[in-house]
Amino acid sequence: MYDVAVIGAGPAGASAALFTAKAGKKTLLLDNDQSITKRALIRNHYGVEEIGGPELVETGIRQAVGCGAELIRDKAVDIVRSGEGFEIRTENGSFSARHVILATGLWTDLAEKIGLKTKPATEPRIKTIIETDGQGRTNIPGIWAAGTVAGVSVHTIITAGDGAKVAVNVVSELNGERYVDHDILQPKE
Ligand SMILES: Cc1cc2nc3c(=O)[nH]c(=O)nc-3n(C[C@H](O)[C@H](O)[C@H](O)COP(=O)(O)OP(=O)(O)OC[C@H]3O[C@@H](n4cnc5c(N)ncnc54)[C@H](O)[C@@H]3O)c2cc1C
Repeated sequence: MYDVAVIGAGPAGASAALFTAKAGKKTLLLDNDQSITKRALIRNHYGVEEIGGPELVETGIRQAVGCGAELIRDKAVDIVRSGEGFEIRTENGSFSARHVILATGLWTDLAEKIGLKTKPATEPRIKTIIETDGQGRTNIPGIWAAGTVAGVSVHTIITAGDGAKVAVNVVSELNGERYVDHDILQPKE
């Protein structure tokens, strides 16, 4: 069983998986490669002067996998409660996880199918979003939402940030105390 399954590997999902995997949580990253970010040329992502969407998405996935996340290219089609967590059913198999983070971008079909509360979006060109408490929690305990699908402003720095925020909340819940992930720059020899 995974500690965390992240559905969607765009900026929100890969950023979340990077944090949960780096925190030592067994992390599954499920994605069916339809990220809208791949159409973007990004010049407004703090700390990165200019980057193409495909390169940003690939780099994010590489970072998450580099920290131990397991990437599976597949489409999640259903999520059912099972034992202490959830069974995530995909087009080609199924996986189990204690917590699930939905970072599915424009897509709310899975959220609606499993009974997550959704509402009309307020961001331009976005139709429907998953209702959250602002910290990523949805109406189903253990299922979280991050990024575009959770209603944040549709910009990579914000969706990636939201994925990280929700991941820190999930790790903190698993650890029973607030989690911080800081690495320290070592002085040059
Ligand atoms: C043309 C264009 C230009 C843009 N330009 C900029 C810009 O200059 N600067 C900027 O900051 N932002 C820009 N953006 C917005 C940016 O792409 C988004 O803000 C954002 O980063 C979306 O991130 P996300 O992770 O929420 O969604 P996405 O990147 O769309 O990722 C969602 C992922 O979830 C996967 N998924 C969905 N459902 C399932 C399922 N059931 N099972 C498995 N996987 C699933 C999809 O395949 C996808 O990979 C632009 C967007 C577009 C379309």
